[in-house]
Amino acid sequence: MSEEKIDPLEKTQEIFDFLQGKIPEGYFIKRKAQPKLSADQAWTVIWYLGNQYRQVPDFIERCDLCGELYNSHSEGACLDYGKVPYHFCEQCRDGDEFVRKMRRNPDKRTREDYFSK
Ligand SMILES: [Zn+2]
Repeated sequence: MSEEKIDPLEKTQEIFDFLQGKIPEGYFIKRKAQPKLSADQAWTVIWYLGNQYRQVPDFIERCDLCGELYNSHSEGACLDYGKVPYHFCEQCRDGDEFVRKMRRNPDKRTREDYFSK
């Protein structure tokens, strides 16, 4: 597979799984050398790499509610104010938590736009 044909979400998901010990086909890594992070730890590594080195795309986000990864360019939402949750995948965007947080959105325009739909 050529690098540019890989969907960034799939690629990030693969790293996310890899860091939790799911080794992709075609790789042999000694058991002792295999990473075995928790989902939270794995996500911290990816988040750090994305922010510091841009070796992984920074628009792949992890939902603060369900923990799934998603492509923030094409789905989900970010409510970057107040306390967590900030990131909502497409599915959790339909949930109560999103509506609750959106009610407290300091950006009145965005809030009115959302609730007028
Ligand atoms: Zn979610």
